[in-house]
Amino acid sequence: PDVSSRSNAIYERAKRSLPGGNTRTTVYMKPYPIYAARGAGCRVWDVDDVSRIDCINNFTSLIHGHAHPVLVEAATKQLALGTAFGMPTESEVDLAELLCGRVASVEEIRFSNSGTEAVMLALKAARAFTGRPKIAKCEGAYHGTYDYAEVSLETSPEHWAQGAPQSVAYAKGTPKGVIDDVVTIPFNDVDGAVSLIRAHARDLACVMIDPMPNRAGLVPADRAFVQALREVTHEIGALLLFDEVIAFRLGHAGAQGLWGVDADLTTFAKIIGGGFPVGATGGRRDVMAVFDPTRGKPALPAGGTFSANPVSMRAGIAGMELLDEAAFAHLDAIGEAVRQGIDEAFRSEGAEGRTTGLGSLIKVHMTDKPVRDYRSAHLDPAGQRRLATFVARMLDEGILMAPNGLMALSTVMGRDDVDAIVSAARAAIRASARG
Ligand code: PMP
Repeated sequence: PDVSSRSNAIYERAKRSLPGGNTRTTVYMKPYPIYAARGAGCRVWDVDDVSRIDCINNFTSLIHGHAHPVLVEAATKQLALGTAFGMPTESEVDLAELLCGRVASVEEIRFSNSGTEAVMLALKAARAFTGRPKIAKCEGAYHGTYDYAEVSLETSPEHWAQGAPQSVAYAKGTPKGVIDDVVTIPFNDVDGAVSLIRAHARDLACVMIDPMPNRAGLVPADRAFVQALREVTHEIGALLLFDEVIAFRLGHAGAQGLWGVDADLTTFAKIIGGGFPVGATGGRRDVMAVFDPTRGKPALPAGGTFSANPVSMRAGIAGMELLDEAAFAHLDAIGEAVRQGIDEAFRSEGAEGRTTGLGSLIKVHMTDKPVRDYRSAHLDPAGQRRLATFVARMLDEGILMAPNGLMALSTVMGRDDVDAIVSAARAAIRASARG
């Protein structure tokens, strides 16, 4: 901490007009956050002119790094033509066609401005379509801040003592009715999940799953688990919702393409906006008909002043077009190299720890035990301290990553960047092992 830094000076000002100086819990850092000034390629410069390799990419939302010339051009062109209209624009049709063309189960799409909104609209669509009140989600999985979506984001060993996951409020003030309408299922546990889903068969509108939930350990869902959810939702007449807000960065046809499953509803955000705010809810045509206004008031009316904003749409299209099969092969290769490099560093340093993830997504765990779900990913206080030391040392070594151990790579990174990340991780592992 440097009290004479510009970041600290800005934070001192921030404390007077923002609660705790913060407007986004996820970017808070003690004793003060480092403020970004600019980014180019895979690097970010802070307001004190220190540059670092960006391995968080705005929490996985940038897949081509910063200020990519193709995206800058697409956005700038639209800026000069106007940024928002009380009318639809052709750009929304272009991006909808692109996404429907990539994900087999997505026949129609509705745009919004964030992943939170995308999930909210998907859950409301499932309720409107089925006429049922409840939703099911996995213990520990993050899906944004809609009340229902954040139930059981955090549970504790007292809850685990009951065996099956409990539905518990994440935020103070969550109404009891919300808790009662969320069924929390165990991730990657076929029997546990299926029996809970069957127990609420007549009330469940949908089962929502992120196939590789970051907060629940960034472990890929077993194929058998996803298949079981697909089958049991068919059996009880509920919808299967794939939250691909992050996971869409795993493959050209999205996570569904990799897992080989067709969802009824899918949510997108982050990378599909080319670095601008975006969200999208897509799915089966008959389900998406709940939004259709052509026959009078729809079952689910939904506006949104900035939804399908043309700057987000145009930058999003440019970014998605750059993301071809070759780009995914590159992301898979550098992601695997970082995971292997960090795992090897843990082994050769004789330190407890390992990585999970797939493709461009990596999570560092301070444990040798198998990580399969939220509970097994949970760190004891000593593990939490070691992770904090690791992340702080990475920052000093010039690598930006999330405090919870998450890293997300971008297409503009090369082998040199991989080497820099791995050698920084080795130094951070040594530092964290010393405690
Ligand atoms: N779903 C998932 C799986 C997410 O990871 C996130 C955000 N990290 C969201 C939804 C919410 O997206 P947003 O932050 O754009 O509201």
